[in-house]
Amino acid sequence: MNEFEFIRRLREQTESRKRSPRVIKGIGDDASVIREASDRDLIITTDLLVEGTDFYRDATSPDLLGHKALAVSLSDVAAMGSRPRWSMVSIGLPAEIWRTDFKESFFSGYFALSEQYGVTLVGGDVSESKEQIVVDSIVIGEVSPGRAVLRSTAQPGDQIFVTGNLGGAAAGLKLIEMGARGSSPTVREGTASRQEAGGRRQELESGAVATGFHYDAKTAEGDVIESLLLRHLRPEPRVGWGIVLGEERLAASMIDISDGLSSDLGHLCRESNVGALIQSANIPFDEDVRKICGRRALDPLALALHGGEDFELLFTVRSEDIARLPKRVDGIAISCVGEITRDSSLRISERNHIWELKGGGFEHFRQSK
Ligand code: ADP
Ligand code: MG
Repeated sequence: MNEFEFIRRLREQTESRKRSPRVIKGIGDDASVIREASDRDLIITTDLLVEGTDFYRDATSPDLLGHKALAVSLSDVAAMGSRPRWSMVSIGLPAEIWRTDFKESFFSGYFALSEQYGVTLVGGDVSESKEQIVVDSIVIGEVSPGRAVLRSTAQPGDQIFVTGNLGGAAAGLKLIEMGARGSSPTVREGTASRQEAGGRRQELESGAVATGFHYDAKTAEGDVIESLLLRHLRPEPRVGWGIVLGEERLAASMIDISDGLSSDLGHLCRESNVGALIQSANIPFDEDVRKICGRRALDPLALALHGGEDFELLFTVRSEDIARLPKRVDGIAISCVGEITRDSSLRISERNHIWELKGGGFEHFRQSK
């Protein structure tokens, strides 16, 4: 059973049980929607980050991890078209990490982002773990009643948009897997303190580590590599876009791109009982990926389609609402990448060919029975 089958079963179990009439949306969207008062709905989401699966201890720093833990949940709240308000965070740390300044650095990254969006930390939990760092992040948002933007409300003829550009975070992850480690002060500082904590020591030179991956941080290529690493390690949730698309009733349906465009578009289409036709030429590639793809054997289209963790918003807009869309929010532009179709297939048009678009994004327990 994979992650998605498990969630489907759980969802059926909750739907067949007695449930509160104030649950507007339970399992099955980026976040749940609860009718909290007559003048607002609450949006609640939780995300788990596990060392070794969701991040590597030696490739990030505590403050980047604090930022990312909050960012991924802010992204889910944005994908509901709502404004984030409150948060909780629980951390499980091995004793040797607990004794370092990990906690302080983690929360400096966390608070820097929470302050940016006026989110108040209202609780959490702390536990000792045996080996791995585990972080669970909850964010609560609010939205005018009935304005939450669901995955299940796309209609044939809707135009499909994405914010920002795609593929950068997946390229960053590939570079990390090839052995790249950042040389920017924030990455290096955290890496160094963790290495002391773990009793492992490696000499970090500019952008190179004892992994066989070398680059010079002072060159143009070094700049590109560092910015791709940060796209993965320090995602920027599209909070401003989320609020505009929800409150102004611009998005007809929405999801955030955490697993990859193909996979998340698949989730949206399945929930809405529709299909989609994507125009390959309109996909906004990350420029940095294009710059280094040849030398580092990365495929920009594959990364943009199937790579995860860009945390951009994917949303659909009825044709009569397109003229009301702002060009940019917080400096971030959008691109129209395709159209929702009546049949349930996911397809991509590339030059004069139309291919079936298979979901190739990230999936937990993909190989498990
Ligand atoms: P996202 O990628 O947007 O965070 P997920 O794929 O993690 O969404 O989850 C999809 C849906 O399944 C969400 O509604 C989420 O709340 C629900 N879900 C995931 N894991 C569990 C669980 N252990 N118990 C209940 N609901 C879950
Ligand atoms: Mg999501």
